[in-house]
Amino acid sequence: MAEQGSHLVELAGGVHAFVGEGGDSNAGAIETPEGFLVIDAQQHIPLAKSFRAALEKISSKPFFWLILTHYHLDHTAGNSVFAGDIPVLAHQITLEKFREVLGPDVGRGDSFSEFEKKVTFLFGPNIKGLIPPGDPAWEWFRGRIEEPEYDTLVAVPPTHTFADRFVFHLDRRSVVLEYLGPAHCDGDIIVHLPEDGIVFVGDMLFVGRFPWLGDGDINGWISVLDRVSGLDVEQVVPGHGNPVTLKELREFRELLAALRDGVAGAIEGGMSEDEAVDRVNLPDYETLPRYREWMPWNVRNAYRQLSAR
Ligand SMILES: [Zn+2]
Repeated sequence: MAEQGSHLVELAGGVHAFVGEGGDSNAGAIETPEGFLVIDAQQHIPLAKSFRAALEKISSKPFFWLILTHYHLDHTAGNSVFAGDIPVLAHQITLEKFREVLGPDVGRGDSFSEFEKKVTFLFGPNIKGLIPPGDPAWEWFRGRIEEPEYDTLVAVPPTHTFADRFVFHLDRRSVVLEYLGPAHCDGDIIVHLPEDGIVFVGDMLFVGRFPWLGDGDINGWISVLDRVSGLDVEQVVPGHGNPVTLKELREFRELLAALRDGVAGAIEGGMSEDEAVDRVNLPDYETLPRYREWMPWNVRNAYRQLSAR
């Protein structure tokens, strides 16, 4: 399959998106007088090294801070490639998630290779309650992280955390990190550059791929996107797929609303969780990659949330 490899895209002077190959996770970097603010670090060390090499090609500046949009492995397993000495900044919930999935005493540079840690780090600590033991679906989840690059992963949790908002005040631009509530997982932040009209939204937006909602908050995610769509920005960098505009972000909000409405309708119609998993479909989206693998677990998680209220 001919795919364009992972590559840097310059969105504005000194602001770069690193777009993952074939819809794999994205990252970003902002040049500052002190060095790069790096946004996310790819899903394993070899990919993080190629991201780092791409940045070193455009500037000899050092790395200044590493910012995490959320905790999932596909955005943080390359942290060690950047975070030798630099601080790692994230929402406080992201640090809590690291501790929840990797152990309360997880430290910088700790390595791990257990499937259970890897799968919860990538898909959320509730995945074992979503997918029953022995379910054939486990084969896909196992396959997702069986390549040699994932044999042993290195944890680099945040060293600095914030609650709602953190701002880098640079010479001609500010970089605003903002938490808008639980969404794709929890602890997701946006990285907003108001002077440039750019926002990095992490996995709160998937472009060209069906989203993972297995450890997300369906209503929270929709309301966060409503807030993001009120920003004055021209460029939106998703967690997966090419940079887009608010138009595509609003279209993605409709995908989530269709999922929510489908599941809510099933609950109102008296369907059990298993019946909802069998019968709620999103025909407009079923050709998207990952729909088949992820839709049942997205429905199951949404069902539990919507029936709990
Ligand atoms: Zn994610």
